[in-house]
Amino acid sequence: MRDLSGARHSATKAVWAGEEDYLLEGATQVPIVQSIPFGYDDLDEWMAVALGEREGHIYSRNTNPTTRAFEEKVRALEGAEDSTSFATGMAAISNTLLAFVRPGDRVLSVKDTYGGTNKIFLEFLPRAGVEVKLCDTTDTDAVSEEVAKGCEVLYLETPTNPTLKLVDLERLSEAGREASAIVVVDGTFATPINQSPLALGADLVLHSASKYLGGHSDALGGVLCGPRELVRRAYHYREINGAALDPFAAYLLLRGLKTLELRVARQNENAMQVARFLEGHPAVERVFYPGLKSHPQHELAKRQMEGFGGMLSFSLVGGYEAVKAVLPRLQFAHRAANLGAVETTVGPPATTSHVESSAQEREAMGIPESLVRYSAGIEHPDDLISDLDGALSAVRAGTPNSSG
Ligand code: PLP
Repeated sequence: MRDLSGARHSATKAVWAGEEDYLLEGATQVPIVQSIPFGYDDLDEWMAVALGEREGHIYSRNTNPTTRAFEEKVRALEGAEDSTSFATGMAAISNTLLAFVRPGDRVLSVKDTYGGTNKIFLEFLPRAGVEVKLCDTTDTDAVSEEVAKGCEVLYLETPTNPTLKLVDLERLSEAGREASAIVVVDGTFATPINQSPLALGADLVLHSASKYLGGHSDALGGVLCGPRELVRRAYHYREINGAALDPFAAYLLLRGLKTLELRVARQNENAMQVARFLEGHPAVERVFYPGLKSHPQHELAKRQMEGFGGMLSFSLVGGYEAVKAVLPRLQFAHRAANLGAVETTVGPPATTSHVESSAQEREAMGIPESLVRYSAGIEHPDDLISDLDGALSAVRAGTPNSSG
């Protein structure tokens, strides 16, 4: 058994954590255990596993060796006591929320959560008899005051998708603790490399693993980390609800995770350079990136983030027509609805993060139609900048799109 106590850095944990139990016959990689059931000749042993008295697996909707290795790697990166996985990020969010609320409860969150999460708050929780209050994302005092009135769950996301607003994790975790609320943080944009919500006082941190954790836009997944008692409650809901992570997806996510630290370091650097460049471009109205001094919460970003992340957004002079003209000209970007991949990915919120929201809902959330969400990949920053420069300048000069 490998001793991982000397792995003090995320880069080392990302490579080694979670793998030590599963290396079969000298294999150096975690195998894809593509089996639904696990057989036992000894019924006492089977019973002990069923009762949770010894390690093992019974049925892959509950647990599976490959998905367990993935959970363990993320657990180590988050410095959590326990972790569990889900079929998607939305499954992690919906199962976690539904595991902790019952009719008559009150859930507090912020207005700028991811579009799918926002739908849970506006549509599904109210239908289940749960009161939902969404506060101004950046008004920490107002959120704290609402928390103090009482709530069972305080659900936060930071930075937010797509306008890159931050919530003050330390202060709001403290407010949640005083109100005995369970504080859940969606850390998808930041990754465990750039931000540690548990160390800042949150109870639970979750991620869409489909984004940075996997990093290659080829596997859906979700993960939740925190104290055993809370994670077990969410796990229990998920094992019955059935939103289990597939072993093959877990294998891809595990492989992606090994390079997480390297990818995120490059993406942080690329996003910073691109944001600085865009801020000085006459075709750009405004840039949203926590690493810029012009970001209204730059000081908070410096306090609670290790790196400012690979995500940014910017609004264009000329509204949605300009977005339609600029995006097709980019050579080094997928025009697609994912983020956090090795390739740069761009898109307007109406077809990406907030595809489930109406134009009015987007407007109410302060998401302009002229906005472009930009997920910096791991390409060379000079190429990304000259690609953007070419597209923005051509549109500004009224040059017809060469691709027609
Ligand atoms: N959380 C955030 C911040 C996201 O951006 C997304 C998806 O874009 C999700 C959660 C949902 O993840 P998934 O698509 O894996 O369900």
